[in-house]
Amino acid sequence: MSLTNMTIAEAGAALATSKISAVELTAAHNDAIAALNPRLNAFITTTPELALSQAKAADARLKAGSAGPLTGIPLAIKDLFCTAGIRTTAGSKILSPFVPPYESTVTQQLLDAGTVFLGKVNLDEFAMGSANITSAYGTVENPWKRNGSDAKLVPGGSSGGSAAAVAARLAMGATGTDTGGSIRQPAAFTGLAGIKPTYGRCSRYGIIAFSSSLDQAGPMARTVEDCAILLQAMAGFDPKDSTSAERALPDFRAATKGGVRGKKIGIPAEYRMDGMSPEILALWEQGIAWLKAEGAEVREISLPHTKYGLPVYYIVAPAEASSNLARYDGVRFGARVDGEDLIDMYERTRAAGFGAEVKRRIMIGTYVLSAGYYDAYYLRAQKIRALILRDFETAFADVDAILTPTAPSAAFGLGEKMDDPVTMYLNDVFTVPASLAGVPAMSVPAGLSAEGLPLGLQVIGKHFDEETVLSVSAALERAAGFSALPTIRAGASA
Ligand code: GLN
Repeated sequence: MSLTNMTIAEAGAALATSKISAVELTAAHNDAIAALNPRLNAFITTTPELALSQAKAADARLKAGSAGPLTGIPLAIKDLFCTAGIRTTAGSKILSPFVPPYESTVTQQLLDAGTVFLGKVNLDEFAMGSANITSAYGTVENPWKRNGSDAKLVPGGSSGGSAAAVAARLAMGATGTDTGGSIRQPAAFTGLAGIKPTYGRCSRYGIIAFSSSLDQAGPMARTVEDCAILLQAMAGFDPKDSTSAERALPDFRAATKGGVRGKKIGIPAEYRMDGMSPEILALWEQGIAWLKAEGAEVREISLPHTKYGLPVYYIVAPAEASSNLARYDGVRFGARVDGEDLIDMYERTRAAGFGAEVKRRIMIGTYVLSAGYYDAYYLRAQKIRALILRDFETAFADVDAILTPTAPSAAFGLGEKMDDPVTMYLNDVFTVPASLAGVPAMSVPAGLSAEGLPLGLQVIGKHFDEETVLSVSAALERAAGFSALPTIRAGASA
């Protein structure tokens, strides 16, 4: 089998039995990146030499018998995770010269597990977006194509580089972050699995902040099991993050084998929205049928405040972003544009350093937090957020997990949905409620659209019950038997 087409589980087994070496595996991925990244633009920074030296260390560890399931596995790291000594841009011009002096906890844990870092992958600027079109480092091309068409499609966002890299076989897995859907929606657009764990499961230390009460790190990979293996290394309590949960980690990989017999699965009536694509509805029905056939009990449930999810998210997230992004003032981090005095320097730096979407969010956030509007918008949104959480708690008294579509459409064309920001925000309609409630949610590739593009189903679970999310997702994955491949990928002749 080709080295770039293996799953993490397969490569781990081949490394453990010396059938392949970490150096070979890494070299194959470095070559794939060199060949395809100029086209896809998935990586902002590549680190091929570093990767080879990490692979050598991994081979030594494998030989010494001190390796784990991730030792020698080549990964792509979203360029929102601070990596010591490696430029970290957050997709923004304002951080273009920023080389962090420290490592994020999640990437440190992956390094401790012996993984290999191939480079830093593209994203929407400060993770704000759904199509990877707001990055200061250019758009990312989705490796999938519509049947019979060569039109460029978006990979989803904000973790668009992570998604394109893993789908095109440039990396075996990637880190993502998800504030309102940025792991799940790009996973769905590129035929990958991706899980946003419970808020607090993975440390936020060293992840450049967008909206602190929503940001969560998680893995993206080609199978549910691979996500479970990655999550095991990424998660865990961290005293450096005050919102990190002090909870024991279950065996996530074992959970993928759990099955769904006897599990109660809720189908929220409110996710059946007007004007929804019949294709997405049909896929959802198919998912229900698969879970029933596997022995699950399916029930209609109600999440009555679903319709407020998007407006609440687009108040809370910009409010927190406007505060988090105040630190980019030209003094402490990244780029500076000198001015006549201090204020003028701040203004010039921020005007030149931030892109249009980030400026829009800072303005919305500042507005909803301003004295005259705080009660009408921000406080109101916080109250409704509590009701959205209560909807989930009520539903989870009766069911073990919830099944919904991940996104309202398949990947769209570069240039589509770009005239007005609100159309873009509608992408997040199915993903933001779980973010606002802090519950874990996973997207699994479940089928193809009539145009030949991947579509995902979303499994939402109770707080800290990633195990059920993984077992239900794995059952869907087995039933769907998704085996289609993207047009642009390492090893493909075209
Ligand atoms: N698309 C959403 C936004 O633009 C979510 C982004 C994210 O999860 N980082 O805010």
